[in-house]
Amino acid sequence: MIEIKHVSKWYGATQVLDDCSTRIAHGEVVVVCGPSGSGKSTLIKTVNGLEPFQKGEIIVDGISVGARDTDLPKLRARIGMVFQSFELFPHLSVTQNLVLAQVKVLGRSQGEAAARAASLLDRVGLRAHQDKFPGQLSGGQQQRVAIARALAMDPIAMLFDEPTSALDPEMVNEVLDVMVDLASEGMTMMVVTHEMGFARKVADRVIFMDVGRIVEDCTNEEFFGNLEARSERAQLFLSKIL
Ligand code: ATP
Ligand code: MG
Repeated sequence: MIEIKHVSKWYGATQVLDDCSTRIAHGEVVVVCGPSGSGKSTLIKTVNGLEPFQKGEIIVDGISVGARDTDLPKLRARIGMVFQSFELFPHLSVTQNLVLAQVKVLGRSQGEAAARAASLLDRVGLRAHQDKFPGQLSGGQQQRVAIARALAMDPIAMLFDEPTSALDPEMVNEVLDVMVDLASEGMTMMVVTHEMGFARKVADRVIFMDVGRIVEDCTNEEFFGNLEARSERAQLFLSKIL
């Protein structure tokens, strides 16, 4: 589903991704962790073409992300992305936030898009808030709207960049619960997070990054079942957050 092959990226003279390779199979959930500045956000943003890269190749569902003739907006529409900072349209109601791209990008009718929005808002437990504006919702609610908005596009995969790290602690679980459901329904997911409880529960694999490199790429069982066998760098990092 997602193949990252020998990807390297530089900002000017500074290398931020260094020969990164991994594959994510259909329905697989991969958690990416690592210290600040290790390249986690940059790596997941290369997958939907938000960050260009200079070397290597990324193939999503058979389409080469970096190729000159790839229709990036079309590819991006099929990959859901959820950020730390929600990124909702503040001047649109919750329903309108979910409807807009369905109509503009997928060409759905207003009615069809509104029906899809309603069913997704039910699913994330926010139907009662459909006419509110983002500013009238809590952070956890806003993030659930952001997830529902991404799902409204019927994505083939979902990318999450620290979706809970801007939330007050009591709101973290309401967002993680939605992500756990999504994983159990078979969504292909790449999740940058330091929520190791979530990782242990739903990740098929865990990737650990350091200075632009994928240092560890192991199964859940390898990662959590045998922490002593992890690299020194990963152990040091985990000792700070576990
Ligand atoms: P964090 O945990 O803080 O979110 P991260 O692992 O997501 O960190 P990235 O945001 O991917 O790290 O950044 C990787 C490196 O690239 C960092 O050294 C960062 O300073 C650098 N970087 C990121 N964006 C830019 C930019 N626009 N211009 C120059 N350097 C950048
Ligand atoms: Mg980041």
